[in-house]
Amino acid sequence: MPSIHSLTNEYMKKEKQFDVIIIGGSYSGLAVGMALGRALRNVLIIDAGDPCNKQTPHSHNFLTNDGKTPKEIATIAKQQVRMYGTVSFVGGLATTGIKTTNGFEVQIQTGETFSSRKLIFATGIKDTMPDIPRFAESWGISVLHCPYCHGYEVRQQKTGILANGDAGYELSSLISNWTNDLTLYTNGKSTLSDDQRAKLGKHKISIVEAEIDKLENEIGYIKNIVFTDGTKSPLKALYAKLPFVQHSSIPQALGCELTQEGYIQVDPAQKTSVQGVYACGDNTTRMRTVANAVSTGTTTALMVNKELIEEEF
Ligand SMILES: Cc1cc2nc3c(=O)[nH]c(=O)nc-3n(C[C@H](O)[C@H](O)[C@H](O)COP(=O)(O)OP(=O)(O)OC[C@H]3O[C@@H](n4cnc5c(N)ncnc54)[C@H](O)[C@@H]3O)c2cc1C
Repeated sequence: MPSIHSLTNEYMKKEKQFDVIIIGGSYSGLAVGMALGRALRNVLIIDAGDPCNKQTPHSHNFLTNDGKTPKEIATIAKQQVRMYGTVSFVGGLATTGIKTTNGFEVQIQTGETFSSRKLIFATGIKDTMPDIPRFAESWGISVLHCPYCHGYEVRQQKTGILANGDAGYELSSLISNWTNDLTLYTNGKSTLSDDQRAKLGKHKISIVEAEIDKLENEIGYIKNIVFTDGTKSPLKALYAKLPFVQHSSIPQALGCELTQEGYIQVDPAQKTSVQGVYACGDNTTRMRTVANAVSTGTTTALMVNKELIEEEF
């Protein structure tokens, strides 16, 4: 027997006009959905189901959910958001978003369109994998983006950093907090300054400039880093700071400005440069954690609801 809540959700799916459309229904989008559901708003969450951490076996450093799989956290979150009858879900990719006289119109890949007064992007970012065989398969498992998320599990293990120049220096100094067995792999000639080299040497961080051919791994767990000259180094973990692109191109198509680093520019209320459009989670900040995605999502919901109340009252 379906609950009143789920019946309401089904009913709402047939509606086309919402107070708010949220594009992206992972941690940040679900946090928006919960707070707006609790504020009695008619909300549509459109989600393509492709979060950036899908490959990681355990997610850490989010209170009450430490060590759960990313999917477990998202499933519980979704179940809880579904309890609010004014929140509806549509699976699939939002392909376009345009400004209309009264707000916004969003189209999904089936051709269906939905309208709203406010529009929120919780769309995340997409990491650009380097052209190194077996790198992508290890991403989030033993090739890591963040020591706060995964550093504890590989503490004091044989660890590598894949980076060069200032980024390599900064990442090496950060990761030295978690292990004393650290090597910086520059994958070609080092662009470190003499001072940086000297400081890394002082902390016994080796620098290897050999070009990388591939990684050797077993079900995502790195075993060796292999160089083009055929030599190899054993490793337990490798950190890398990857370039990224916005997961969705709709914010830019709508005119949302990006920061120099490539994040959607938002103010402290998570407002973008386009009136009525907000953004939250990974697409707005380098503070890439589930906790921050949830936090900025909640802030966004409160600010959007405030704006709606001010327009209505
Ligand atoms: C490999 C890896 C491991 C991580 N491990 C941890 C960890 O252990 N602990 C931790 O706190 N953090 C971790 N993080 C960071 C954490 O996963 C992110 O901060 C968090 O997922 C950001 O949430 P988000 O909702 O902003 O974006 P995402 O979770 O990336 O979700 C974005 C959602 O938007 C959807 N979407 C995008 N465009 C569209 C569109 N046009 N239409 C419809 N839907 C769309 C996507 O399909 C996706 O479902 C990890 C990140 C990575 C990459």
